[in-house]
Amino acid sequence: MSFPDHLLIDGDLGAGEGSEFNVVDPATGETRSTVHSSTEIQLAQATAAARRAQPEWRSLSQPERSRALHEVADRIRVEGERVAEALTYETGRPLTRNRLYVDMTVDLFRMYAELSRALGGRVAPSNDPGQLSLILPAPYGVVGCLIPWNYPLLLMVFKVAPALATGNTVVIKPASETPLSLMVLSEIFATTLPSGVVNTVVGSGQTIGEGLVTDTNVDMIAFTGSTEVGRRLGVLCAESTKPSHLELGGKDPAIVFEDADPTVAAEAVAWASFLNAGQVCTSTERVYVHESIHDRFLDEVVSVTESIRVGDPWDESTQVGPMRSEGRRRKVLGEIEAAVSAGAEVVAGGSAIEGPGFFMAPTVLAGVDHEMGVMREETFGPVLPVMSFSSDDEAFALAADTPYGLGASVYTESPTRVERAYRELNVGTVWVNDPVVDNLAAPFGGNRSSGDARELGVEALESFTTARHVHWNLALDPKPWWFRPE
Ligand code: NAP
Repeated sequence: MSFPDHLLIDGDLGAGEGSEFNVVDPATGETRSTVHSSTEIQLAQATAAARRAQPEWRSLSQPERSRALHEVADRIRVEGERVAEALTYETGRPLTRNRLYVDMTVDLFRMYAELSRALGGRVAPSNDPGQLSLILPAPYGVVGCLIPWNYPLLLMVFKVAPALATGNTVVIKPASETPLSLMVLSEIFATTLPSGVVNTVVGSGQTIGEGLVTDTNVDMIAFTGSTEVGRRLGVLCAESTKPSHLELGGKDPAIVFEDADPTVAAEAVAWASFLNAGQVCTSTERVYVHESIHDRFLDEVVSVTESIRVGDPWDESTQVGPMRSEGRRRKVLGEIEAAVSAGAEVVAGGSAIEGPGFFMAPTVLAGVDHEMGVMREETFGPVLPVMSFSSDDEAFALAADTPYGLGASVYTESPTRVERAYRELNVGTVWVNDPVVDNLAAPFGGNRSSGDARELGVEALESFTTARHVHWNLALDPKPWWFRPE
């Protein structure tokens, strides 16, 4: 299968005019496609096109804008298999899961097409009779969207659908490792939306990415990626007082209390740790299990882990594909080695899988302590470190002891423990007995080093609008406090 190599700028599909780079298939380690970067001139053309298109796009009636978004959804529905295949080549994730993500993308365009029709403002109490104070949502203008490689489609639509629905135009930059699905989607945007409403650029984060962030035609930045890069972009945005919406890394804990069913918890925790080879921002990356069920839980989690089918992403029975790159796999293997040197024990997996591609065995570590790197820093790979605790106070203190604040899972039947998790864990999402679920109707995002944004839900419509106040004096008589010449 061959993939297009084009950008979408001002309604035209054309190749990048910058240097060539390869997109490597993580399941084989071979080059899948060669694409061209955008030049800085093309970036400037893209942001200028978005700027020009925005007044007309925001002036469409809401039903007109909604119809356009439904048309995008209809076309994605028709082209869905091509999009899912592009995703499979660029991420190595099983095709069966990528089909689900195409379905979610269709749903999200439809959901924001409809939700935005009901987006209202409010009337604030006015200072005096004869006046109205209207608080109205207004789009920011042009939104620069920067997307990571782990979920190139979903993390694009989480931003683009609500941003467009509220009258913004966008310029999207995918991760350099995963530009293919966006290139397929660009064809859909080109035929369903007015010129300039969606534009795409491709190229390295340091050049094209930072160029997009600092471009004066861009009014707001929506970024998903690492905490390190997010902090830098936050500073760049602050220098020009540009709003930034940052979705960053995580180190999500899971607490398995003694009232949990160890079999159910083991399966859930394994799913939350190994989905997408652990390359999920909300992966469970550290597990605290009550000492009374620790051994049984560990046995069960090892048995689930050893039964996971890792392999060819095109095989419909595969559950987990490869890691995205050799460099990332090496980093994860290094973290396992460091944990073992510090006293941890590998009880499942622990190594790369021989053969082509960047496959790695899902790994369970026992005998870890809270100070090890695998319990403190984001691993972003298929590693599940387990340690025991003896009291609720200890479990909550350990779970909260992190600079991150994306999500947390608890396994319990006790409402008081759930209430305590909600109150004490400073995270965006608490999952109870069912981890890593995205409910499209609920907000998603993190706190502290995990960022400040909220995507999904009605909250995303608020994220891409700013409140504009119209103070309207209907009584045209002079006011006593106005300046009047003597
Ligand atoms: P990344 O290196 O921060 O890159 C993310 C995006 O930003 C890519 O498009 C990248 O382009 C671009 N970029 C890199 N450096 C840049 C710079 N100096 N200026 C402007 N743009 C720049 O992150 P990643 O490795 O792709 O993604 C993994 C990280 O994302 C993990 O930490 C994960 O937890 C986090 N994540 C968070 C969420 C969430 O919702 N909170 C969801 C998914 C992933 P290039 O590809 O060209 O470098």
